Amino acid sequence: MSTREPARSLPQLAVACPTCGSPAGELCTSHGGTRTRRIDTHQARLAAWGEAGKIRPIEDEFFQPGRTYAHGQTSQFRVEHVTRHPDHGHLRAIGWMKTGEPGAKWHGGFRDEGEFKGWIEIADGGDAVQGEAAQPAEVTIYRASHDSIVMGLYTTRDAAQTHCEAKVRQEEPEGSIQHLSWWADDTGDQAEYELHITPADPGALIHGTGYVVKPLTVAAAYDPDGDE
Ligand SMILES: [Zn+2]
Repeated sequence: MSTREPARSLPQLAVACPTCGSPAGELCTSHGGTRTRRIDTHQARLAAWGEAGKIRPIEDEFFQPGRTYAHGQTSQFRVEHVTRHPDHGHLRAIGWMKTGEPGAKWHGGFRDEGEFKGWIEIADGGDAVQGEAAQPAEVTIYRASHDSIVMGLYTTRDAAQTHCEAKVRQEEPEGSIQHLSWWADDTGDQAEYELHITPADPGALIHGTGYVVKPLTVAAAYDPDGDE
């Protein structure tokens, strides 16, 4: 990747630009072709790229909100949000990171599209928390629901989200979804995420689906002192 022409790494270069007529693989131009746009492309080109179906679903190739990933033994990444750069269109996963050192603290961090390689999803909290409590007093389950109708209860957020995503893909017209993403008003382990659709139609807005995954804490044993 050339640092002097960062636009060369933009995915929308795969299609021709409807605004300036620049062919696939070439940078956009301004001022009647006299100036090359080295930093970005015309907005319409990104939209055209999306329309051409070049944007694959995020879940196939990028971090997902509400999941935790490990890169070998060296680092962990708990993803809270996934967003796209407003001008350049590349994906960015934002969340919390820590090193593999014992007692390492979480700090804010992010990873961009192209930096997903080598990360694998791990259970929430990772291996580090296992063994601390052989018999937890509480366990967390994940409820997939739509308009307050419960669809299912799952032991992982991943499974609950997969259920919702499958339903939405069944319900929406084929080819109408550019990608699906999960958004929460809150952050943290107890955040409730709603599935959102980014429509393939570049003129349409990202919108919620009413499909929600909510973590629920359930007791592993009856506690007579807690009974009111
Ligand atoms: Zn252009």
